[in-house]
Amino acid sequence: MSDDIKHILEKENLEKPDLVKLLSAGEEDRKLLFEKAMAVKEALVGKKVFYRGLIEFSNLCAKNCYYCGIRAGNKKQHRYEASEDEVLEAARYAWENRFGSVVIQAGERSGKNYVARIESLVARIKDMSKGELGITLSLGEQTEETYRRWFDAGAHRYLLRIEVSNPALYPTYHPVDKTHDYNARLEALYLLRKVGYQVGSGVMIGLPFQSVEDLADDLLFFQEHDIDMVGMGPYIEHADTPMYKYKDRLLPKMERFNLSLKMVACLRILMKDINIAATTAMQAIDPMGREKAIKVGANIIMPNLTPTKYRDDYLLYEDKPCTDEDAEECKRCLEARIHMAGGEIGYGEWGDSKHFKKRNPGNV
Ligand code: SAM
Ligand code: SF4
Repeated sequence: MSDDIKHILEKENLEKPDLVKLLSAGEEDRKLLFEKAMAVKEALVGKKVFYRGLIEFSNLCAKNCYYCGIRAGNKKQHRYEASEDEVLEAARYAWENRFGSVVIQAGERSGKNYVARIESLVARIKDMSKGELGITLSLGEQTEETYRRWFDAGAHRYLLRIEVSNPALYPTYHPVDKTHDYNARLEALYLLRKVGYQVGSGVMIGLPFQSVEDLADDLLFFQEHDIDMVGMGPYIEHADTPMYKYKDRLLPKMERFNLSLKMVACLRILMKDINIAATTAMQAIDPMGREKAIKVGANIIMPNLTPTKYRDDYLLYEDKPCTDEDAEECKRCLEARIHMAGGEIGYGEWGDSKHFKKRNPGNV
């Protein structure tokens, strides 16, 4: 076991070389990292794991990110949009089962009718749950006005991954055009903060051409931008995407998974009181992936509440888990697994980011 890692873990502030060493830690050193992350988590955010019922509202998308299975250019993909009633039914399930919150996620779209439809959906969910259900949106880049309308309708958290924080790498994974612009994505994160949302971001881990140094910078990006919640997970290839051609350059899936665990642990040590999600992509590689993430610092889980008939069509990557389980099955198995990972479920609580509350004491 190296004294170097012990010394790093005792430091008050982690810098880039420290993060690079932690992310490169081998089997033995990794244990120290994980123990430290767990201790920080228990001291700062406690054992509670909060649920966000995930409703994948639609796989229609106007964009063409090179890695994503539901990109507009994937003509093999059958498209759907759930009806308002279907979304409401899923949200009702979340509310009745005391999940505390839902996340509404979809491909990126714009237009007057679409914006109004989401606004009405958010308001109806708020109304149906007597204001009790927290609402997170993950609907991509929008104008300030749109963000404000959805916020005023009742959404209070928004997830927008930066995907990769190094602007020089952004064009490797996205077309170079107006709709896939790094600075516009960054600007959207500022707009969300300005409007009043709790802001979530994240990255993919193990992308081709991405180095451990890039990942250390990703962690420092979250710190620099004072992000309230982070969802990050392994990149998983999808055969019908342009990035599939680099599949032979990727780390083996299990290594991408292990790197993701180390990213979660480092982030918990770096940003002690934020919310960190145990992402579905981690479960796609390791069936116990989300539980392992909880053991090293994550405190949010997003059980899938998308109507089962749409699940197979929201395939961002290969082997997406739980596409054939209904919500009830998912809930039972998840509950047992979280207890096994030493967590307690924060039923009926919004589980807002403590980091956000500290910055905005009067706001929640
Ligand atoms: N369209 C919105 C957006 O891009 O922000 C929200 C939905 S998008 C499907 C949600 C996230 O899925 C993206 O931020 C991206 O990180 C992730 N994702 C897409 N393709 C992926 C892949 N092949 N492997 C892992 N994650 C992927
Ligand atoms: Fe569309 Fe989001 Fe996929 Fe990009 S990541 S193609 S914006 S759904």
